[in-house]
Amino acid sequence: MSEPIFSRIAIIGVGLIGSSIARAAVEYGAAGEVILYDADTGVRARSEEIGLGTVAPTLEAAVSDADCVIVCVPVGAIGAVAAGAVPNMKYGAILTDVGSVKSEAAKALHAASDGRIHVIPGHPIAGTEQSGPDAGFATLFRGAWHILTPLSGQDEAYQTATDALAAFWKQLGARVEAMDSGRHDRVLAITSHLPHLIAFNIVTTAFDLESVEEGEVVKYSAGGFRDFTRIAASDPVMWRDVFLNNKDAVLECLGRFSEDLAVLQRAIRWGDGDTLIREFTRARTIRKAIIDAGQDSRAVNFGRNSPETEDED
Ligand code: NAP
Repeated sequence: MSEPIFSRIAIIGVGLIGSSIARAAVEYGAAGEVILYDADTGVRARSEEIGLGTVAPTLEAAVSDADCVIVCVPVGAIGAVAAGAVPNMKYGAILTDVGSVKSEAAKALHAASDGRIHVIPGHPIAGTEQSGPDAGFATLFRGAWHILTPLSGQDEAYQTATDALAAFWKQLGARVEAMDSGRHDRVLAITSHLPHLIAFNIVTTAFDLESVEEGEVVKYSAGGFRDFTRIAASDPVMWRDVFLNNKDAVLECLGRFSEDLAVLQRAIRWGDGDTLIREFTRARTIRKAIIDAGQDSRAVNFGRNSPETEDED
């Protein structure tokens, strides 16, 4: 096993992502020591019980000797965590996050920075609909993209810190790419945020439809609906924060989506089979491109019977 990238990391927020990083950092030797802190006393106790790392009693204690602090809380809580962490961090340490929205998360991290530390926001494009310290697993990031949104035009020390953070994520098995935070948020709005919004909506619509018996929705759910229910089981707080913090990009995508949906609606109403075939064929081609790019599997049930093959967030 290669040398640890960081002697000590601190993970703040020990949910699905935080606990997966803790497990992976140990399993793949990316960190010498893992210190954990979560605002929830029950989560801290559970993290200790299942041996995820050394659990600190306070945020300050968790970050004080860390080379890299990874903030793994919902996007709306990143600012408060960063503000509490920064004054207690070592000179030259790295402050990063895993928030699903980058412009607002980066703003919150930079606002808390005092110039002594390196702020390098990030987002692993990997996840599941589960939450909490028991939900994580070491292989979550293997083969997944990890997007970093570093500042441009910084000094050599910042570049060295960015390279170290990229090396850490690569050691967890991720493919690392740097991107502007605005571009990240526009891309993720259509590839992740809108699909989740549609899933939340379709599931509630189905259950609100007076003509559909609840029992029948559940009974026949394998007909496509089931995949939406899995996505819609994702954490409400996390997703509230994603939509409130990526408002413009999501609303822009939603506008385009509604226009395209109206085209299909009209084709169905007027019996325009040619339009339906044309649009469905285009969609099928895109699915093939995703499989060819190694972003999904052709296997039955998307190959998702094991926790090792997961969806993006
Ligand atoms: P999670 O399982 O709900 O875990 C988040 C943990 O952070 C919870 O234990 C929560 O405690 C704790 N927390 C909240 N506020 C805190 C604070 N101020 N100080 C310390 N701990 C705090 O969430 P997750 O799915 O791991 O998501 C964490 C982050 O990763 C989010 O920013 C999300 O956007 C991002 N992300 C998620 C996925 C995904 O698929 N889930 C994928 C990529 C990135 P309470 O439960 O008591 O609030």
